[in-house]
Amino acid sequence: MRTLQRILFGAGLLIPFPMSPAPAAVSSQAFRGTGMPYDAFDELHATKLHIGGATQTIAFAPGPLRLSHDRILKWLTTSAKAVTTYYGKFPVPSAKILIVPVEGEGVEGGQAFGYRGPAIRLLVGDFTTDDDLIADWKAVHEMVHLALPDVSQDHLWLAEGLAVYVEPIARVQAGDLKADKIWADMVRDMPKGLPQDGDEGLDRTPTWGRTYWGGAIFCLLADITYRERSHNKVGLQQAMRGVLAAGGTHDQDWPIERILKVADQTAGYPVMEELYAKMRDKPYAPDLAKLWNDLGVTPAGNTVMFSQTAPLAHIREAITALPRGSL
Ligand SMILES: [Zn+2]
Repeated sequence: MRTLQRILFGAGLLIPFPMSPAPAAVSSQAFRGTGMPYDAFDELHATKLHIGGATQTIAFAPGPLRLSHDRILKWLTTSAKAVTTYYGKFPVPSAKILIVPVEGEGVEGGQAFGYRGPAIRLLVGDFTTDDDLIADWKAVHEMVHLALPDVSQDHLWLAEGLAVYVEPIARVQAGDLKADKIWADMVRDMPKGLPQDGDEGLDRTPTWGRTYWGGAIFCLLADITYRERSHNKVGLQQAMRGVLAAGGTHDQDWPIERILKVADQTAGYPVMEELYAKMRDKPYAPDLAKLWNDLGVTPAGNTVMFSQTAPLAHIREAITALPRGSL
């Protein structure tokens, strides 16, 4: 059974988004609170999308938006297609997505729920522009949450780390983002996930940096290690597709051990289980500078240069390439 707190808050609400500004003032208070978004669908007109073999039911809470509803639906379509590209299908057969207009510009926040079926709430600023939606990552981030069972508070780093790590890779694979941008972002932001003084491992250090970027470091290391051991045949993507195939969606509760085991069994190597043993209760800090060098990623101002002769260059390229057999 879930605790009352988890029913009210769902995964991820207690910790702010990476890079997210403070929430804007509210224009449709009733729909953006901390409660679940489900009841809104009883009151609002809904539109259905059909992407990735799934049905996405979209409703708009009252409130002004500069952009048309059609533009918002196009953004959700692009986002759902990116997640579909990564996982081979939309993570759940049906999902409810509530759009809540708020004051401001850009996508101000979001949250994924699983308690009464998969659902997402996204707060969209009334002055949001077309460019804001093209640059947005939060819709994809929340949709990635649908592709993992709900985990307990001490394992939120896995849910958030996976969403942070997979979101830009999915968008590159879908053609919505360039690979140099995401490696530049990783070089800039991954150090935020390294253990600080007093760190007791990922399970015991629920800080913002360790939850989002520490979790992302775990995912990057897992991806690289799967690929090293399999001669670049499988990576985190295949492992997490296995979790999805085993029914591991956000409306399910699984212990972390089961998630990692299914992922490892799918990939054929006990990578995540070994990494978890190394990082769960100890402040394990990989040498990120060496890792970027091995991957052939060299910082250059706001961007990065790639080396094709670096020892792990083929792995770097495979991480953002469409997996074999994808359309
Ligand atoms: Zn999240």
